[in-house]
Amino acid sequence: MDLDLDLLPPGRRKAKPAPDQDLPFGDIYTDHMLVVTYKEGQGWAKPRIVPFADLCFSPAAIVIHYAQSLFEGLKCYRRRDGGLQLFRPRDNFKRLNQGAERMCMPSLDLEFALESLRKLLHIEQDWVPCSQGSSLYVRPTLIATEPHLGVRPAREYLYFVILCPVGAYYKEGFNPVTILVSDKYSRAAPGGVGNVKAAGNYAASLYAAREAQAQGFTQILWLDAAEHKHIEELGTSNMFFLFEDTLVTPALSGSILPGITRYTVLDLAREWGQLKVEERPVSIEEVMTKARQGKLTEAFASGTAVVISPVSEIHYKDERVQIGDGQTGPFARKLFDEITAIQYGTKPDTHGWVERIT
Ligand SMILES: *Cc1c(COP(=O)(O)O)cnc(C)c1O
Repeated sequence: MDLDLDLLPPGRRKAKPAPDQDLPFGDIYTDHMLVVTYKEGQGWAKPRIVPFADLCFSPAAIVIHYAQSLFEGLKCYRRRDGGLQLFRPRDNFKRLNQGAERMCMPSLDLEFALESLRKLLHIEQDWVPCSQGSSLYVRPTLIATEPHLGVRPAREYLYFVILCPVGAYYKEGFNPVTILVSDKYSRAAPGGVGNVKAAGNYAASLYAAREAQAQGFTQILWLDAAEHKHIEELGTSNMFFLFEDTLVTPALSGSILPGITRYTVLDLAREWGQLKVEERPVSIEEVMTKARQGKLTEAFASGTAVVISPVSEIHYKDERVQIGDGQTGPFARKLFDEITAIQYGTKPDTHGWVERIT
């Protein structure tokens, strides 16, 4: 791949975090980043790997005013033999391209996106932590940089990838979360952009999440925007319910983000064959009724950052229901163990999900 390198001399690189250092999510960045610019009529310029630094673009850039902006999130894992690997990265770049289509932004060639990320990871490989459960979080981002205040798709873009070492999400073991069902706010409307990782979705979610946290809940459970009847997502992760012997997740409605961990959970559950697996609309009434009857045995969310996040309590209107015995259920734990084993290479990858970097 033709790529320009502008690397820091070793003496000017940052000290890597110590193996036992706390790595809060998204605070520490590696020494370098990948940047590629796009101009209508010219296409993508030659990719560059440059020192991590502030970006420079006009205050009139379209991304600032009209949020033409998309991101992805995936992780690079260190295997026990010291090698590095990614989990289903092609699915992240496919999703980025689906978002680009929806947001009138240019798409990236899949092989180009993967190959340029590989190059960056090779350069930054010493930044991938080795402590249990830690990884290097990868944040590909696409923004509209053209200065223009009329509302229309930009003609200039920047694609960049930054990396940050992150610690295990669960430091003191698997902690189930309590959740508040929002019957007042909505995350994404039918026909909107909830099914792509558009930056504006997250700005729109902050107020409700802050209100839930002020009331002592960890996360907000979003219902559909049209009727506030059907479950959509938990915060920024996908939701699953275990109703006795049936695993159910809301069918992709157009306003639900198609999570790669969600597909992974569905694939594994179907393959194991112990449970019925259903993707269908799930109403909050059904969840509350089954919970009251003791038929909601587990509830959990899925996403790259958390992998699996068990839920212990649901609060809806003035009612609170506990799920199972309020502890992490065996199915959530089994999924967590299996997915992380594949991601860290302690179990063989029989699905073609893993992409080795080194
Ligand atoms: C990223 C994201 C998810 C989870 O997707 P994964 O690919 O599993 O990480 C779920 N919901 C929302 C809103 C998201 O932004």
